[in-house]
Amino acid sequence: MAFACSRCMECCRRVHLLADTAAMDRGDGVCRHLDENNAGCRIYDQRPDACRIDRQYELHYRQAMSWETFVQINEAGCKQLQALGVGEGTRAIPASTDNRNT
Ligand code: SF4
Ligand code: SF4
Repeated sequence: MAFACSRCMECCRRVHLLADTAAMDRGDGVCRHLDENNAGCRIYDQRPDACRIDRQYELHYRQAMSWETFVQINEAGCKQLQALGVGEGTRAIPASTDNRNT
């Protein structure tokens, strides 16, 4: 069973919600590595473990559940993020924030 990522990038628009990804917040909840024009990750091959579902499973969940269950839980989380809609739920950009991409 493969994890079916639709590349909606909703998770990348809310990195402030997770402690492991919050450091990549450009100031409004969106990851500084997200290419919003092409809906992709600029550092995909070097993205952190927190952005790798297979790595997360091996590191934290293998002992607790099957891969199939883990995929189902993640897919349900994706649907919840997608239901919020693009931009909904993200934080406003502070006026003092430098929003240049890395
Ligand atoms: S929210 Fe889910 S489906 Fe969308 S890009 Fe992230 S992992 Fe993929
Ligand atoms: S590093 Fe890449 S995959 Fe991870 S949140 Fe940022 S844009 Fe998304």
